[in-house]
Amino acid sequence: MKTHNLGFPRIGHRRELKFALERYWRGKVDRAALESVGRELRERHWRLQQEAGLELIPVGDFSFYDHVLDHSALFGVVPERFEWQGEEVDLDLYFRMARGRAPRGKPAAACEMTKWFDTNYHYLVPELVKGQRFRLGSDRLFSEVEEAKRRGIPFKPVLIGPVTWLWLAKEKGEPFDRLTLLDGLLEVYDEVLVRLAEQGAEWVQVDEPALALDLPLGWKQAFERAYHRLHSAPVKILLTTYFGPLEENLSLAVRLPTAGLHVDLVSGAGQLPAVLDQLPPYKTLSLGVVDGRNVWRTDLAAVLRTLSGAIERIGSERLWIAPSCSLLHVPLDLEMETEMDPELRGWLAFAVQKLHEVELLGHALEQGDRSVEKELTEWRRAMDTRRRSTRIHRPEVARRVAQVDEGMLHRRSPYVRRRPLQRTRMALPLFPTTTIGSFPQTEHIRGMRRARRSGRIPEEEYVAAMRAEIARAIHKQEEYGLDLLVHGEPERSDMVEYFGEQLEGFAFTRFGWVQSYGSRCVKPPILYGDVHRPKPMTVDWIRYAQSLTERPVKGMLTGPVTLLNWSFVRDDQPLAETCMQIALALRDEVLDLEAAGIRAIQIDEAALREGLPLRRDRWAEYLEWAVRAFRLTACGVRDETQIHTHMCYSEFNDIIESIADMDADVITIETSRSQMELLDAFEAFEYPNEIGPGVYDIHSPNTPEVEEMVRLMRAAARRIPADRLWVNPDCGLKTRTWEEVEPALRNMVEAARRLRRAFSDRASA
Ligand code: GLN
Ligand code: ZN
Repeated sequence: MKTHNLGFPRIGHRRELKFALERYWRGKVDRAALESVGRELRERHWRLQQEAGLELIPVGDFSFYDHVLDHSALFGVVPERFEWQGEEVDLDLYFRMARGRAPRGKPAAACEMTKWFDTNYHYLVPELVKGQRFRLGSDRLFSEVEEAKRRGIPFKPVLIGPVTWLWLAKEKGEPFDRLTLLDGLLEVYDEVLVRLAEQGAEWVQVDEPALALDLPLGWKQAFERAYHRLHSAPVKILLTTYFGPLEENLSLAVRLPTAGLHVDLVSGAGQLPAVLDQLPPYKTLSLGVVDGRNVWRTDLAAVLRTLSGAIERIGSERLWIAPSCSLLHVPLDLEMETEMDPELRGWLAFAVQKLHEVELLGHALEQGDRSVEKELTEWRRAMDTRRRSTRIHRPEVARRVAQVDEGMLHRRSPYVRRRPLQRTRMALPLFPTTTIGSFPQTEHIRGMRRARRSGRIPEEEYVAAMRAEIARAIHKQEEYGLDLLVHGEPERSDMVEYFGEQLEGFAFTRFGWVQSYGSRCVKPPILYGDVHRPKPMTVDWIRYAQSLTERPVKGMLTGPVTLLNWSFVRDDQPLAETCMQIALALRDEVLDLEAAGIRAIQIDEAALREGLPLRRDRWAEYLEWAVRAFRLTACGVRDETQIHTHMCYSEFNDIIESIADMDADVITIETSRSQMELLDAFEAFEYPNEIGPGVYDIHSPNTPEVEEMVRLMRAAARRIPADRLWVNPDCGLKTRTWEEVEPALRNMVEAARRLRRAFSDRASA
């Protein structure tokens, strides 16, 4: 039985890669310095894996930006605008593709970025043109293999499989079918595999996570074509699947002529019996039993039972053990968290600890449980305390969730009755203007936050400084002429962290960074226990903001689904249950804001869409509880209190009915970059409430023109009745400067005025 790993975090214990990249991009260090940081990180990470005792260690999983982009370089797929001449794709060309610019070479539009399956990692979308040719464009993979060999690492090169890579790519220019490129692409794969064999690779891990998706027939057939062709390569292929059960793709995956198959038994827990039934006798089976997507210690006893069962069926010779997927999605090393509460720490495992778990499992199976008795006992103790801990389990929270009734999920009256009450109470004109919540997070604000954290300033000084920021934001908004104001969120560094820190049930790490894209990392909170709100979280700030103005100020909260989706979530109860707990805590906050006289409350659900399961047949279930959680948060208020929600996207076509079911009075969405095209969803489905389709792109520093915004709103008014439209930017303004925000909002208000004139003339005519 072999133990192995599928992929390791690249960023380093202290985000060394991030800092090296950013120094290189700023021109502070040269390429050799950056390369040497990359080499050191690879070496250190290989050594950690070797010390854990793994028998095969992935090579090729390291990346200076993104592994999908690495494959584009490997296959010589460089969009024309980068004027590539066919030489080795060097780091500067690579960074230009990733970010549009690099220390050397002409700037050009960066490649598009999008989510890697249902994770929070983002990859750069390969761009393919009709008749696209492929040829080896980079030697990086081969030199990393050399490096590993020199260091005596038992290496296993890792590649994204041809079908998944093609699936993730996009056609550009003249339309065509990507699958017509498969044969050409397979030629390069052949070449790559031959070279890896020459370098002494016995096994090559070929990742095909697309097998966990609903695939059209043509794509299923592509798998057959691809792997029959690669069958003649002089290496053993471990066809690697993860992020979900194979389901109807199982018989396809099992039948493909590869020497091995890896299946994810964490997200696809139930598939083992079927896999064992269908596995051909020649095939090696790798079982992903340690969760590569979450931070909890593995229940070793349960996994040992599963594995023993598998051994009884097919013996141990052709059985391998591994994490469920690459460890890219979890923090690197729990050892770094020296300040974490020891009990909580005892329940966790980060990448390094997960490898030890894999190893421990291997030992237990080869030499019997007795050989690792001490470790197993310790494990059991940690699992037991987690099951019983009063830090996790608060009976009163469970009781409250059990008592949620339908009445709590509905507003008192339907939207049509609420609307006039809200409009009158806030004296809102036609085309009311508002913003999404945050105003520029200046260096001064960040400095004050740091000073507070490190205890360098007393709490009163911090509060006074934040109040001054709020006052400035309120006065500015009055001056610009906005109708519904916000307090500006100066006290929040992050929309999840801010609430997580004030709710019980969430914990934070110091170094628990996970790569989001390129050099960008996030540090998700750990949602470990029953959620409870000890006291109001935002009321003082908002009440203060409202005291400064006659105009209405919006309360501002992060919604339950977003708090859930952007955290590492406990695995000991259903997600839906956890989400309802958060919703109850937020509902109390909503009611407290209302009681403080706040007339409008926004509940942001930036991450609702990204929580959609990979498989369509599981969407309905997710949307059902996600919408319930939102409604539980929002629906306690009186009719005259206006509920807003905000979502940072507008690809709603497939979930528009669920969005409408949330029954927010107003939804603000992102549409400006796509010229309101994305409002097409609203053509087929009549959205019943109010909408603020973002009229300008806050990601750009440019000042939006009045005429352009008027034009966009007119386009929106063709699909949605004008009296249900709001005028607002497409997201929060925290990444912009005041110099950018000021003219933009003045123009936006001017656009709204023109629209009012134009539309009220029409109404009176
Ligand atoms: N209220 C938040 C802000 O304005 C919303 C951010 C988001 O949706 N990502 O920053
Ligand atoms: Zn947004």
